[in-house]
Order: sequence, then C-alpha cells, then structure tokens
Amino acid sequence: MTIGGKPVESAGQFDVFDPATAQPIAVAPACTPDQLDDAMDAAEVALPDWSANLETRRELLAEVAAALEGAATDLAVVLTAEQGKPLKQARYEFTAAAQWFRYYAELVQKPDVFDDDDTGAVEGNYKPLGVVAAITPWNFPILLASWKLAPALAAGNTVVLKPSPFTPVATLAMGELLREVLPPGVLNVISGDGALGAQMTAHPAVRKISFTGSVATGKKVAAAAAADLKHATLELGGNDAAIALDDADPDAIADKLFWGAMMNCGQACSAIKRLYVPARRVDAYFDALADRARTVRVGPGAERSSQLGPVNNAAQHQRVIDLVADAVAHGARTVSGNAPETGYFQPVTVLAGVGDGVRIVDEEQFGPALPVIGYTDEEQALQCANNTSFGLSGSVWSADPERAETLARRLECGTAWVNQHLVLAPHIPFGGVKHSGVGVENGSLGLREFTRLQIIWRAAPANTQK
Ligand code: NAD
Repeated sequence: MTIGGKPVESAGQFDVFDPATAQPIAVAPACTPDQLDDAMDAAEVALPDWSANLETRRELLAEVAAALEGAATDLAVVLTAEQGKPLKQARYEFTAAAQWFRYYAELVQKPDVFDDDDTGAVEGNYKPLGVVAAITPWNFPILLASWKLAPALAAGNTVVLKPSPFTPVATLAMGELLREVLPPGVLNVISGDGALGAQMTAHPAVRKISFTGSVATGKKVAAAAAADLKHATLELGGNDAAIALDDADPDAIADKLFWGAMMNCGQACSAIKRLYVPARRVDAYFDALADRARTVRVGPGAERSSQLGPVNNAAQHQRVIDLVADAVAHGARTVSGNAPETGYFQPVTVLAGVGDGVRIVDEEQFGPALPVIGYTDEEQALQCANNTSFGLSGSVWSADPERAETLARRLECGTAWVNQHLVLAPHIPFGGVKHSGVGVENGSLGLREFTRLQIIWRAAPANTQK
C-alpha cells in the first residue's frame, strides 16, 4: 500500500485471482484500522500545502499523466492478470486515465462573479472539501480511479483510494508509481474488502466520498455519508436500453450495438443491457448479433488474439449463468459463441423471446448476454426503457437522427446517445438519475463536486462609509 508516500505492508492478506484460470496469482494487503487511520492522518497533514498551490498541482498532475503513459505497457500486464480484459484494453485504461489527468491539470476554474457594480461586488470561489475517500469497482479499476483522483487532486483535496478486492494490484502499483510524483500523503492507496470501504466512509477525517459500484452498496455509502453530513458522489449501476426505430438498418448498426453491449465482456455500467427493436425485425437483429457472438474471439486477455476476456469473478460469472438459465426457463431462445472452459469464461450470448418481467431484462446482468426484445410501437418501447429504477444512460438508433433525438430526450437517464452508445470523454459530465447515481463525474461539473463554495461579498466604498 502507499501511505504517507511510503510503502506499507500489512499482517493480513487476501488472495487475488486470475479470472482466466480461477487460480490465485497474488496476495494483497488487508489494511488494518490503524493503517486506515495512518492513511487519513497522512492525507490531512498533506492537505494545507497541496491545497495552497494551484500551479504546483497543475504541474504535478501533468507529470502524473506522463508517468501513467510511460508505465501503461508494463502495468497493463498486471491489470489483465487480475481483471481479465485483453492487454490492449488494459493498456487503454492507463492512457485514458492519463487523458483525464491532463484534462484536469489544464482546466481553469474561474470564480463566479454574481455582482460587480456600485452597490458592491459578490464573488463565488470554489475551495477544496478536504480529505476524499475514493472507492472503485472491479470493471475499470484504473480509469474509474482517474475519474476521481484527477478532479479531486486538481481541486486541492487529498485522497485515500481503495480499489475492489477483486482487482487491487494494478491500483496498488499505480500508487507505487505515483509516490515518485506526488508529495507524501496527497494520494494514499490502501486495499481491503467492503468492511474497509465502510470504515472509510465512516471515518471522521473524510469530508467527501466518491464512490463507484453497485446500487446496494451505494445506498450504504449514502447512509454513512448522511450520518456525518459528508458530501458524496455516487456512480451506480445501470440497465441501459437501446431502442432501434423502424427505419434503422440492423446490418448497418449491428457492430455498434454488439460492442455497445459487449465491450469489457458486458461489464460496463453504461453498456447496452436491453435492446428494443420493432417486433417484425427481432429476427434480423437477433441474427446479426448472433453472427458476431459466434465469431468474436473470447480468450485469455494475455493472448493477443483475444477480443474479450473472462468475466472478472466467480460470483459475477455465476450470476450471468443464472440469468441466462432463468431466461431460457422462461422461453428464451439463445445463440452463444465459443469460450474456453477454464476460469470464469462465459460465451457471448444473444437472447430473444423474453421481455419485461424476466430477470435478464429487469436486472443489471453486467456480463456478455444481451436480450433482444420486440416492441409494437415507439411509445411502448419508451415506456419499457423507462420502466426501471435505473437511469444511467440509453440510446436511440434511426436513419433520421432528429427523430431519434426526439425520443432520446424522453429517456429517463443521465446520458442519452443518438446512433451511438458508450462514448465518454473527460470534458463531458457523466452521471446517473434515479437509482443509478447522485451527482456527476467528469467535466467542469465533475471538478465542482470536489469543492465547496465560499462567497466573498465586498461592500462598495460608498457603502463602507455609511
Ligand atoms: P460493489 O458495490 O460490490 O463494490 C464497489 C466497491 O465498494 C468495492 O471497492 C467494494 O469493496 C466497496 N464496498 C463494498 N461494501 C462497501 C461498503 N459497505 N461501504 C463502502 N464501500 C464498500 O460493486 P462492484 O461489484 O465492484 O462493481 C459493479 C457495479 O458497479 C455494477 O453495478 C456497475 O454498474 C457499477 N458501476 C457503475 C459505474 C458508473 O459510473 N455509474 C461504473 C462502473 C461500475
């Protein structure tokens, strides 16, 4: 672990598994309560200097970006070993994280001027909140950490970061790398399970929690934040609907739909998880997607030919198997591709013949299985898309982008794409509505979530004399 700029071991340890083999490949330290206190103390001690000097922060965050790019190829091997994703995609996490750091290193946050006239001047300044507890899931450990670290540090906060116990090693290695760049205590990286996450969110030093993970855990984090009136940004699960209108061409959009659903083996919060198509075109979409499911190369992430890796962990693997089996029991027909029989590999599966009310449609599958659902009219499709407690993102597909946009605007979600899905950028805010989250990450609004507003109200000279 990295605490106060130093390497720290722990008496307790836990195993980390390679999802391609289900074999243990590393042991990670289980942070003790005392070590958590040390990390929080280090973050508090580092806070005054770090928050005082914007120019130093900008320079060092640019150096962080360069360090991540420089280490991307080596650390991708570590990330692939514990997460499962193909090397190229693991490498991308580091280079994309570098983009996020560079964006926030350069972002200028100006004070708001509310009044400036002969009655006086009123200005709003954005100040850091203090120590941030950052907690990440296992699907994009490095990229999602950068969504938190880059704006939190840019705004002048210090951070204690905990990755998922399924994927701690690459994040711990990133902490080690950044010891060389950041002053001691500015970024502390610890590892452990959900109990450690709960201790972090309850810790009195923390003023802001930035959490990405499931809805169930998000509710616990929100309760912990409420108990101490901490700020919290919650990026939670999704059950994204894509709606193809009757003028969309299945063959022309099948590739984008397939990768919008299957990227990272379907383990993306804003992957397509339900595809609604006109009832008479279900077969056309099913066949086009099934062709791709049959031919996509699923294999160990370390092998160059692999386009998709395994599901990350045993519980998630079993969940996807169960949801597909439940759909089949409810009359679904399926086409599945090939996958190795070791580890947590799961063949890519396309389903048809089930709709709302069946688990794989109603719940977040978070794996390589996509239901194609027929609708009779657009209003019905929209109603189904919105008939969920999730509200992360969604998309509408049509030969007529204006027509698609009219419907997309009525999707109850944080991001609605037109003729695309899963497109993200550092300068575009991202966040969910309903149970998919509270607050946003990315862009200048993402920076603002790590700040508090102070109003400076200056009396006009004439008023001062009164
Ligand atoms: P999870 O909720 O099980 O775990 C997420 C993190 O929370 C882990 O680090 C875990 O150790 C920690 N944790 C567990 N219990 C805790 C507690 N009581 N208090 C504090 N922290 C605790 O989620 P997961 O299975 O790792 O990730 C998958 C989920 O994340 C999916 O639902 C997915 O949609 C969601 N996700 C959302 C986004 C987004 O931006 N909206 C992005 C990626 C993933």
